Amino acid sequence: MAWHCKYDYKCPHCGEPYISYAPGVKCPKCGEAAGEGYDIIGEALKGAWFHLEYHGRVLPPDYAVSSLADHYLKLSFLALEAFLEEGSQDVEVVTGAIMRRIDFRDHEYLRPHLEGYFPLLLRRFQQGSAPTGKEAG
Ligand SMILES: [Zn+2]
Repeated sequence: MAWHCKYDYKCPHCGEPYISYAPGVKCPKCGEAAGEGYDIIGEALKGAWFHLEYHGRVLPPDYAVSSLADHYLKLSFLALEAFLEEGSQDVEVVTGAIMRRIDFRDHEYLRPHLEGYFPLLLRRFQQGSAPTGKEAG
């Protein structure tokens, strides 16, 4: 059993798939405001706890990515695993480490988008905040 989420979204202006993970997060490609937001961080935290309980680790082996949201979930699980392994549990240190592991290739514009994402994710994990109860797609 692995945690998946079917949420998909594309920028209505330029067609870039992305998730507006917090209020004010705009399209990473063209800068257009998002038509809707989605609490993918809450989803990632629920999935992380689920995997910890059933697999003993945040990212199960052979985690299959089949939606835009799954891309975010996989990156989130990688970040949370690094966070748990990191002795200092320093949000900035772990964010830097995970950013260095991502190969952006021709998607360099996603860098600031994810640089904003990981600290929010890690801080909410650190605070152990309860899931928001939003249902997946
Ligand atoms: Zn756009």
